[in-house]
Amino acid sequence: MNNDDRESLQEAKAAYREWENSLEGVAYWLGDLPFPESLETVTIQAVHRLPDAVREFVYYHCRFASEDDAGVTIRCVPQAGRPWLVTLGQGGVEESLIAHEIAHAWLGHECDPQAGELRLTQRDEEAACDLTRQWGFAGTGTETIQRPH
Ligand SMILES: [Zn+2]
Repeated sequence: MNNDDRESLQEAKAAYREWENSLEGVAYWLGDLPFPESLETVTIQAVHRLPDAVREFVYYHCRFASEDDAGVTIRCVPQAGRPWLVTLGQGGVEESLIAHEIAHAWLGHECDPQAGELRLTQRDEEAACDLTRQWGFAGTGTETIQRPH
């Protein structure tokens, strides 16, 4: 490989990294999300704001779904390839709430594999809120008082 080739390879890598970190790159990696555009937008924006390593974790370990209830929840379905299922409701979905649920997964909080429910202590809630704040989010997902899950 001569110097010109090496340089263009470096440029291509830099361009790829830039794309990967763009909203478009995040949308590509998340793939088709099974819900309306408004929920798709808030999900892409939330994942875009996560640190690189967490974003990659989401691509390989999380799935998304929608349901009628308001808000955002997370369940674990260990037998599936991507064990964490983040469910978005029809209202009250904030970026910080999505990040909060991802924080539970990232922190590996205990899950009951039979019920698919997380067994969360107050300490777990505080840890998820703290991490969500560290990731640069503000809002309901960072406020322990208002977190039922
Ligand atoms: Zn929580």
